[in-house]
Order: sequence, then C-alpha cells, then structure tokens
Amino acid sequence: MILIDGKKVAAELREELKQEVFNLKSKYNKVPGLTVILIGEDPPSKIYVRNKEKSANEVGLKSEIIKYPDSVDEKTVLDKIYELNKDETISGILVQLPLPKHINKQKVIEAILPEKDVDGFHPMNVGNLSSGYESSIPCTPLGCYLLIKKIEPNLNGKKAVVVGRSNLNGKPMTQLLLKENCTVTITHSKTKDLKGECLKGDIIVAAVGIPELVKGDWVKKDAIVIDVGINKTEKGIVGDVAFEEVSKVAKALTPVPGGVGPMTIACLLKNTIECFKRSVKL
Ligand code: NAD
Repeated sequence: MILIDGKKVAAELREELKQEVFNLKSKYNKVPGLTVILIGEDPPSKIYVRNKEKSANEVGLKSEIIKYPDSVDEKTVLDKIYELNKDETISGILVQLPLPKHINKQKVIEAILPEKDVDGFHPMNVGNLSSGYESSIPCTPLGCYLLIKKIEPNLNGKKAVVVGRSNLNGKPMTQLLLKENCTVTITHSKTKDLKGECLKGDIIVAAVGIPELVKGDWVKKDAIVIDVGINKTEKGIVGDVAFEEVSKVAKALTPVPGGVGPMTIACLLKNTIECFKRSVKL
C-alpha cells in the first residue's frame, strides 16, 4: 500500500512556488500579496491563519493578517474588503471562516472580487469551475486532486465516489474529478447504501466529519482513498476513514494528520500566485 505523504508533496509544491515567486519578482519587480482577515478568537482559526502567514512568508509572498474582534460590525468588514479589492499590491483576499453569527457569510464571500478570491468560494468562481473555465479552486479539493494525480496521472473513465457534498469540499471535488473524465458519484447523509456506493469506487474521497466512517469492507481492492476528515477523538486526531482496515485493501491512502491537511495551505499559496499571474496578464 502506498502511504500518500501529503507533507512531502506539499513541501515539494512550496519549493516550486518559491521558485515561481522568485521568477515573478525578477520579471515584474513585485510579488503576489495575500491578505487574510481573521475575526474573533476561535482557536483553530487562529492556528490556521498563523500557519497560512508562515507558509506565505516562506515562499516569498507578501502577506498580511487583519484582525478584528468578535464584536466587529459587518459594514466594517465589507468596507475593508472593498478597500483591499482596489489595492493593486494585493493579489488574494481570504476571510477565515467560520464568522460570528451577526456577519453574513454569503455577503462577505460575494464582496471579495472574484479575481482575488483565493478560496474559490465566490459564486463566479464556483460557476467557472463547474463550466470548466479558468477559476480559483477551493484549496482542500485542489490539494486532494494533486495527490490523486501523483498516484494515477490518467483518471479517464475511473469511477470516483465523493462522500460529502459541502461547498467547501465535496462539490468542488466532484467538479475536478469530472474534468478528469471520471464517472463521479456524490454521496451524502441521505444516501441509501453508502457502503455499496463506496465499493464501486476506484477512487474514494471522504469529506464528512465522522470519525472512521469508511470501513475496510467499504473499499474495493486497489482503490485510491483520500481522507479529508479531521476529527478530534479520545485517541487523538483521526480522519473519516478507518485507516488500519482500509490500508489492508487500498492501493494508496492518505494518513490523518499528514495527508490532505498540509496540501490545503500549499494550494492557498498556489491560488494566490495564480491570481497574481492572471492580474498581470490583464
Ligand atoms: P460539512 O459538515 O460542511 O459537510 C459534511 C458532508 O458530509 C455533508 O455534505 C453531509 O451530507 C455529509 N454527511 C454527513 N453525515 C454523513 C453520513 N453519515 N454519510 C454520508 N455523508 C454524510 O463538512 P466539510 O466542511 O466538508 O468538512 C468535512 C471534514 O473535512 C471535516 O472533518 C473537516 O474538519 C475536514 N476538513 C479538512 C480540511 C483539510 O485541510 N484537511 C479542510 C476542510 C475540512
């Protein structure tokens, strides 16, 4: 069984991106800039944002975090986004989710200029991705896609099963696999016979949030299994896939932690650079 080392692949990707930033700086005399807006004191969000800034600096991007207290009003956040939209030194804007209840997530996402939407959540980017046009692609599914392609470069005609239909993971993952000519089944909490559906998959991507939901006898021999889940349990952090059991049948499997997680941040940096490149082409 191939243990898909997301840490290693992400480190390689960061090295490539570092070189690319260096080349862009030589060519345009400026570097891509990423601004992250963090609202409130949610501990995981604070850790994610710190890691994003650290990785951005490592590859040579200009990065900035704008922090607001939980009590900030919606207008202040929207006005800041409008200001950042106009700032030519900023290629990418990300508002860390979740947001406090009094701030409308949809309004915030739609306020970000689609060209600077490094999360790929703006409806324009969602539409472009589903139409097969150039767009920002949500970072976690993009990371999963790159890991799958490392194992199997030609996905033509493969059967893929995506477990979970969130806007963040399941839906964009489905689009990426479709684009690669997979036959995709998207499953969710109301799916009948989830085990039977999973058993058909040459590729399974699990993005659910239920510890070890996908069992060994749900997986076809030699399937590629990508585990997006991050679940805190008594025995520590586990994914949505029963690792031990599935590792006995799968051809390749991502561990949790150390699989998809590291790819997410590397893909955010990649998206920021892509936004910059599209902006200088205009
Ligand atoms: P979500 O809660 O938005 O969506 C979960 C999806 O799972 C829903 O579509 C739901 O229909 C489906 N679901 C729920 N119960 C199910 C069941 N019993 N059978 C089949 N489907 C079921 O979650 P999300 O934001 O997509 O996140 C999913 C997991 O991925 C979480 O554990 C989250 O922490 C993790 N995550 C990891 C990364 C990363 O970088 N590795 C990034 C984002 C999210």
